[in-house]
This record gives sequence, C-alpha cells and structure tokens, in this order.
Amino acid sequence: MMRILVTGGAGFIGSALIRQLIQHSSHTVLNLDKLTYAGNLESLACVADSPRYQFSQTDICDAAALVSQIQQFQPDLIMHLAAESHVDRSIDGPANFIHTNIVGTYTLLEACRHYWSGLVPERKTAFRFHHVSTDEVYGDLGDTSEPSTETTPYSPSSPYSASKASSDHLVRAWQRTYGLPTLVSNCSNNYGPFHFPEKLIPHIILNALQGRPLPVYGSGEQIRDWLYVEDHARALLAVAVHGRIGETYNIGGNNEKQNLDVVRSICAILDELTPAKPVGVDQYADLITFVEDRPGHDRRYAIDTSKMSSELGWRPQETFDSGLRKTVRWYLENTSWWQRVLNGTYRLDRIGNQA
Ligand code: NAD
Repeated sequence: MMRILVTGGAGFIGSALIRQLIQHSSHTVLNLDKLTYAGNLESLACVADSPRYQFSQTDICDAAALVSQIQQFQPDLIMHLAAESHVDRSIDGPANFIHTNIVGTYTLLEACRHYWSGLVPERKTAFRFHHVSTDEVYGDLGDTSEPSTETTPYSPSSPYSASKASSDHLVRAWQRTYGLPTLVSNCSNNYGPFHFPEKLIPHIILNALQGRPLPVYGSGEQIRDWLYVEDHARALLAVAVHGRIGETYNIGGNNEKQNLDVVRSICAILDELTPAKPVGVDQYADLITFVEDRPGHDRRYAIDTSKMSSELGWRPQETFDSGLRKTVRWYLENTSWWQRVLNGTYRLDRIGNQA
C-alpha cells in the first residue's frame, strides 16, 4: 500500500489513473492540480468521497506550495502528469507550455529532490518519481520508418512536443546527476471517456451529434497510434511500480490509423448507435470537412512497445474498435459531463476534498 502523489490528476489521463487507483487498489492518492481549463474535478466525482483520495489546487510552478504539500503528504511515489497538452494551443501561445512543462517540471524535480534527500534510507531507496510523456518527442516518421524505440533520438516539431522533450531531458539529468530515482514513459495518442472536447475524437463525436462540420486537417492522411486511456493508466502503474530506475518505456496501442479513417470509424459507429440524426444529416460522414493543415504538422508517429511487453508483461486490453465503441457510447450516455464542459459550468461548481 503506497502513498501516491499525482500531478495533473484532474486532466484526462490523470483522472483515469486516479479512478483506477482508488477503485482497483488500496493506495492513498493526493491529486495536485492547478485546475486550468483542462482540469475537471467532475471527472473524479466517483472517487471524491473516498477517504483514500485528497485534492489540492496547486500550481507545479509554485515551489513553496509544492515543498509543503510533498512534506505533509509524505509520498512513496510521485506520478507527474500535469502539463499543457494541446498542440494547437501551443502554436497559438507557447508561453504556458514553456512555463508549466519545463519550469514546472524543474520546480517539481527540485521539490522532490529536497524531500527525497531527507528521507530515512529505507524510504529513500523505495521512493520513485515517474514522469509521463509523449511519443511526439520522437518527431515525424516517414511512412516506411520503423516505429520509435526508447533509443530513437528526439526530434520534436511543435512547441508542445519541444517542451515535453525538454522536461524528459530534465528528469533524466536529475537521475544521472543527483541520483533521484526516476522513470520516464512516452505514450502515443490516448482516447476514451472524460476526454476534453478540443481533442480529435471527442471533438468529432460532439460535432457530429450537434450536426456540425467534422473538421479534418489537410487531407487527413496523418498517421497516429491510438491507445485506450484505461490501458494507459494500467501501463503507467506497471512502469511506476515495476519499471527499472533510470529507464524509459514506450507505451502504445499498436493501432496506427490515418486521421481520416478515425473520423470515418466514429461516423460509422454513430450511424449504427444513433439512428435519429440531427435534422438534414443522412450519414454522419457527410459532415466531414477538410480544413487548412496545422503548421509543422507531423505526418506519422508510431511507437515500438516491445520493451513494455517483454519487461513488464503489459499489453493493451482494448483493440481500437472495442475502445472506440466504448468511447462513443460513453459520450452518448454522459451528455451532462460534456455539456457542462461546452457551456463552461464545469469550472464554476468545483467539487472534491481540499487537502
Ligand atoms: P490534460 O490537458 O487533459 O490534463 C492536464 C492536467 O494538468 C489538467 O488537469 C490541468 O489542470 C493540469 N495542469 C496544467 N498546468 C498545471 C500546473 N501548472 N500545475 C498543476 N497542474 C496543471 O492532459 P492529458 O491528456 O491528461 O495528459 C497528461 C499527461 O500525459 C501530459 O503530461 C501529456 O503530455 C501526457 N500525454 C498525453 C497524451 C494524450 O494523448 N492525451 C499522450 C501521451 C502523453
């Protein structure tokens, strides 16, 4: 039974991780989250009353607050997910990405180092810091290149991926220089329940349900690997608990798909599940609209996950088809969650145990 501090636990992946920790383990969790637009405590409503869950609205760039929260909570494990995560936003305004993803990670590493160096030897040896990152740090792959492995050189293209690459380097430097027991994982595109509607899959589902155009960048031929978020949460726990200190683990779904095919698959599932369509819509795919491509848009990401399976025995439980179907159903059955995000009320009535 561990005390686990999660940063960014009100976000998409962080909330999936915390739901899993509270519902399927006996660990105690402290969620530190600034609650930016992407933080939604309503994604944690099902665990908010657990005596093993606490929340504190804390900015990872606030050194004094971090030191005090870590000291009070006395974690055995820190899982760092807090980040600015949307590529389009990083192009429109990179400052927050540099601040949170780079300066915030540095600030957290220093607060951790301070705490870890004061632990008694037994707890010091057991302590772990797990940094959660993205496959976008490896940059654009040609159509025929092999998927990125843990030793593929970094070549980030967007302000988002460059800021995540920087944070990965900082984490490894703190391990090598100070001996802080760190692990890094780099994962491909996640999808699933509670995903903020600005990201591709929920954006397409919700636009379709409202009879709005389904925007596809460029020709829609960009290729991404997709992983169901609950599979990612299971992978993160495997890395954090059983991974080797100082190592990096690539996590992915072995599901390379063109964006246009992802959009078409969503339309086909919606055609099947919601026969009553918005007025004027015959088939959801008729709403597909090609829009000007994103600057610097990477064509293909793909990730080699053999280290995760051979070393940690992890494999995704969902196929892309089963995960996408679950996701579409979730949005159909949880309209109040996404309507409150779309109309902004999720930011007004915030719930949860304040630490
Ligand atoms: P998200 O944008 O949904 O959530 C990020 C969370 O971090 C939010 O709750 C936000 O309030 C919080 N946050 C932002 N700035 C903060 C700050 N300064 N201090 C404290 N909290 C802050 O992101 P996500 O999709 O859940 O991604 C989580 C992590 O996983 C990120 O580090 C991201 O880079 C990484 N990742 C995401 C994906 C993906 O497909 N979504 C894939 C691979 C890796």
